[in-house]
Amino acid sequence: MTATLITGIGELTTNDDELGRLHDAAVIIEDERVRWVGPAANAEPTDARVDVGGRAALPGWVDSHTHLVFAGDRTAEFEARMAGQAYSAGGIARTVDATRAATDADLGETVRRLVREAVSQGTTYLETKTGYGLTVDDEARCARIAAEHVDEVTFLGAHIVPPGTDTDDYLATVTGPMLDAVAPLVRWADVFCEQGAFDATQSERVLRAAAVRGLGLRVHGNQLGEGPGVQLAVRLGAASVDHCTYLSDNDVDALAGSDTVATLLPACDLSTRQPLAPARRLLDAGAVVALASNANPGSSYTTSMAFCVATAVLQQGLSVDEAVWAATRGGAKALRADTGDGAVGVLRPGSRADLHVLDAPSVTHLAYRPGVPLTCAVWRNGAREY
Ligand SMILES: [Zn+2]
Repeated sequence: MTATLITGIGELTTNDDELGRLHDAAVIIEDERVRWVGPAANAEPTDARVDVGGRAALPGWVDSHTHLVFAGDRTAEFEARMAGQAYSAGGIARTVDATRAATDADLGETVRRLVREAVSQGTTYLETKTGYGLTVDDEARCARIAAEHVDEVTFLGAHIVPPGTDTDDYLATVTGPMLDAVAPLVRWADVFCEQGAFDATQSERVLRAAAVRGLGLRVHGNQLGEGPGVQLAVRLGAASVDHCTYLSDNDVDALAGSDTVATLLPACDLSTRQPLAPARRLLDAGAVVALASNANPGSSYTTSMAFCVATAVLQQGLSVDEAVWAATRGGAKALRADTGDGAVGVLRPGSRADLHVLDAPSVTHLAYRPGVPLTCAVWRNGAREY
């Protein structure tokens, strides 16, 4: 057993209802868990001790929505979009071609590099999706590679219908042999329920086939316009519906009355020149909101959760505390990883030792100093990684 006392924490955001926010605090990490949280003056000595000099600390970011297994570059598509071209789901096909042509080593190196990039900015728990393979072998390969580098893997064979493939044939593959091959490698299944991707009936078919194989459900919905994604996700008990850029009052009500988390992806909204998702409206209605990066080469090529938090505060009407919670505990809820031994997005005895120290006296600086790299130290699963 190796224990480390992290002390001199000027402001500690725990996300624990009883512990709340502490000042002059300390945390004891033992192996992969938090052993103790409390006032620095009450901390017992340990083998190792790190004094963070009055800085603020919080749980590491939980990035519950990324697409990191890919190859190729879509800079030109981004340039065209910034010159006025609309975003569509079609760009995904370019990444699919490049991903199929890439070696396992190249794909693994890309995931490793992006995970390092995220961790160095305070992200300690990541989900990532398949969805750029879209054949049985390539989806299984992408799931295997993802699982080597991230905490949670989601099957997104229903990302688009590969060009040149019949939709019904492809759906039969996704809901049959592809799911059979990938299900042992992943915890979740997701579907892109959107114009240009899969409609409500097709999406439901994919999700039901995944549920039968014991996978948890997630949905990409309401990104490009009001659509059936939110209602489908709530009706099938999905853990999360992601994007939620365009919501009707019925959608907001359905989310507020359910356990389905509304995961908002502000970097994606900005990078596709969409309006920002109605975060304030969702919170006021009582929905659970998470913030995630949606890191992917097409619509949101950033791993910066701090950027998402600053955007949520400065442009979407959230308080700093609401945005920080959504990017930590909210993400954990969206991944159903927020309770029990090893819970993430929270700092309390027994939670996973994921700690993010800011080079700032308060989490308020995340929005007060937007764009400034404030990450000072990161412990991930008990190990100092930055
Ligand atoms: Zn996505």
